[in-house]
Amino acid sequence: MHLHSQQYTASDLLAMDKDTVWHHMTQHATQTVPMMVRGEGSYVWDIHGNQYLDASSGGVWCVNVGYGRESIAEAIKEQLVNLNYFAGTAATPVAAQFAAKLLELMPGMGKVYFSNSGSEANEKAYKIVRQIAAKKYGGKKHKILYRERDYHGTTITCLSSTGQEERRSQYGPFTPGFVEFPHCCEYRSQFGDVENYGELAAKAFEDVILQEGPDTVGAVVIEPITAGGGVITPPEGYLPAVEAICRKYDILLHVDEVVCGLGRTGAWFGYQHYGIKPDIVTMAKGVASAYAAISCTVVTEEVFNFFAEEPLERESFFRDISTYGGCTAGPAAALENLNIIEQENLVENAAHMGEYLRAQLEVLKARFPLIGDVRGKGLFLGLELVEDPVTKQPVNENVVMQVVVLCAKHGVLIGRTNRSFRLYNNTLCLSPMLTLTRDEADSIILALDRAFTELAL
Ligand code: PMP
Repeated sequence: MHLHSQQYTASDLLAMDKDTVWHHMTQHATQTVPMMVRGEGSYVWDIHGNQYLDASSGGVWCVNVGYGRESIAEAIKEQLVNLNYFAGTAATPVAAQFAAKLLELMPGMGKVYFSNSGSEANEKAYKIVRQIAAKKYGGKKHKILYRERDYHGTTITCLSSTGQEERRSQYGPFTPGFVEFPHCCEYRSQFGDVENYGELAAKAFEDVILQEGPDTVGAVVIEPITAGGGVITPPEGYLPAVEAICRKYDILLHVDEVVCGLGRTGAWFGYQHYGIKPDIVTMAKGVASAYAAISCTVVTEEVFNFFAEEPLERESFFRDISTYGGCTAGPAAALENLNIIEQENLVENAAHMGEYLRAQLEVLKARFPLIGDVRGKGLFLGLELVEDPVTKQPVNENVVMQVVVLCAKHGVLIGRTNRSFRLYNNTLCLSPMLTLTRDEADSIILALDRAFTELAL
């Protein structure tokens, strides 16, 4: 049977999907999911022909350069007919070229390790940290600290390092050796209304290191700006203080750029806003704007050199492989994706349009008390919704969903914080394509304005 959508009606395909596909993060038996069929630029169309301005970059912050990029499709095609695959134990010209170009954008970093998803990139980082602990510290310095409200992926070990209790629930027992430290959301300050929140939040991180014993802590993993946990921008001085604490106790600093990477925040990488120098950087989503599955674990030469000792015995090299880390479609797409971001000045556009969008969101905040806080950087913005701006009581998640549904009704797709994160799942996420124009930004604001107005009626 030749499956081609034109042979089927929309209702045939929707019924086929309902019968056969188990959707992500959704109780598909009782909820209806949209079926998307085409994308171009910032727009996407569903099977009923409805057009949406996608201010979520594919739902989860992925399609940085927009839909329908023929040059990426052509680069992938050319690569695939030439050589689609050889295991990552061998070299390919396209992977070498992409790695070299990527490292130019990341001064201080030294080597790129390829895999397929954000979770996998983080797992590689954790294995690197564990192996360094084994080689250098007799296994003692093996603990990895992670922050409350951060998310690092879907596997059991990535969930073991995720600070969202609701998301972990029912999936334990977890991997040992992962320890949580307090979040840094100033709007939800644990220390009351203070001037030096960043300093206090960093001190809370140091306290956990001291409690655990610095000689047992090998690394810390953080999102530069927390994504699914509520679009949390770090407070003033926080990240440099965290970096200084890492250096003080010889702890590796692992920055998870799976969402922030590749221009999303108005810099090539989120950490670059804060003048810090990580030891490990992981990235996925925007690496190839989701035209192919590719993720990277990027390390400094110092980290790589732990694995380059002579003699090259079993214990000395990084004994890790991901079959599809050798696919060439990923680096081919990623290389062209980087070219587009560079040639079209999309990092600058994200910074510039991000400021514009943010200013408009502040105007909405002044008009609608439901908006408690506007956060984010570049084209990675969040609106935390509250019952009352004084008590900051989070709205019920149904209210968040209502805004999302109303915006879709007005032709704009926006995202929201993790549905299973019951405590603070009250944040709307805006992450349009980095190509965003002023007209598109105005359409997003208009849809939000109409949604909030209708909600208030
Ligand atoms: N890290 C962060 C910050 C993420 O937001 C995500 C996914 N949303 C991941 C890691 C995991 O990436 P993936 O779903 O590709 O495994």
